[in-house]
Amino acid sequence: MDKTPVSDFLAHLPVTRAVLDDRERVFLAVLRGQVHSRSEATRTLSIRSTTISDHVADLLERRLLTEEISARAGRGRPLRTLHACAERLVTLVFQVISQSVHVFMVNLSAEIIGHEKAEASPESDNEALGAIFLRLYQTVMRALPAGADLAGIVFSLGGVFDRTTHRWIHTSRWPKMHNLDIQHLFSGEKHPISLSRTLDNELRIHMLLQRQSTLLLHWGYGVGFAFGQSSDRIVEGGSAFGEIGHWRVTDQGTSCHCGQTGCLETLTALWSIGTPILGEDFRAGDEEEHIAQVLKDKDITDNDAIQQAVEHMSTAASNVCRVFFPDRLVVSGPFVQNQRIWQSFRERFEQKNRFFSQEIQSLTVSQVSRDLGIYGAALPILEQGLAALLLD
Ligand SMILES: [Zn+2]
Repeated sequence: MDKTPVSDFLAHLPVTRAVLDDRERVFLAVLRGQVHSRSEATRTLSIRSTTISDHVADLLERRLLTEEISARAGRGRPLRTLHACAERLVTLVFQVISQSVHVFMVNLSAEIIGHEKAEASPESDNEALGAIFLRLYQTVMRALPAGADLAGIVFSLGGVFDRTTHRWIHTSRWPKMHNLDIQHLFSGEKHPISLSRTLDNELRIHMLLQRQSTLLLHWGYGVGFAFGQSSDRIVEGGSAFGEIGHWRVTDQGTSCHCGQTGCLETLTALWSIGTPILGEDFRAGDEEEHIAQVLKDKDITDNDAIQQAVEHMSTAASNVCRVFFPDRLVVSGPFVQNQRIWQSFRERFEQKNRFFSQEIQSLTVSQVSRDLGIYGAALPILEQGLAALLLD
């Protein structure tokens, strides 16, 4: 369940660019539900009524607004109500969840209006995954509302990828997939294709709701972080930016799937400590949301594996804070949904992070739902698409 109403962050649009002009202000005010008529627009936005009329006429022509005319009881002019066409523009977000590929169709109001998924076995190679992407695309496009434009397709990914060449280089879920050229796969389509990090997309939502420099640390199947100065300034870095799960933390460590030994993930990630802490309750491949439920009320603070993991994670978090010095640290993933683990992480982190008696301003567990993260991925594409539609 979303804990944040959509209206809370629609209020901040646009996020990734400046407002274009008063026409866009009118459209966004109607989309947010702040304005329902021309006269309200005049008052609320302090724009002259003749100008509002021109803007509304333009937005009606572009099919971004509709105007409903109903007869008013008794005398007086008919009632005219403005509605935003949230489905005038949609975007597709591909995201990997557990061992499945999902595709979501998202409209301008942050609603998911189409969803398809397919499981991909761990044996899947470039050809198999490419076929799944194309099949999901063709199926989900059947949900495209009449009169809607597709603003673009975004692949919200983990692992290693290259934004500029649109190549998905590596992911531990599908070790046989290598250097998948996503742009080439969709070369028959005219829609823009982009690749973005799932963690950056979740961070965008956090930064929208609270404007502080933020470090988002994910502790789940993998370990990684994202950092942003503000919602339009999220640090991108190179192809594996933020993958601190592969920091070498011990010389006596076991093998990691990256080919090295002694990586942070070998001591902290769900793939390595799932069984030692949960026994038969852990099945590799279960979704993190499910694991969070399993972990939630268990008292496992005496477990050696979790104690070691908390120790390493609090050190890693503290070290990354020594690089970025964020105002806020937000931690996501199944482990910190357990109150006792969170408390113990929190205590260890606060102790290690104190720096010349300075302390971090805010330390919280992420409450951003997966759906909101998907909207975080869709947002930049929808905003670019809206600009293109208005400037056309
Ligand atoms: Zn590794």
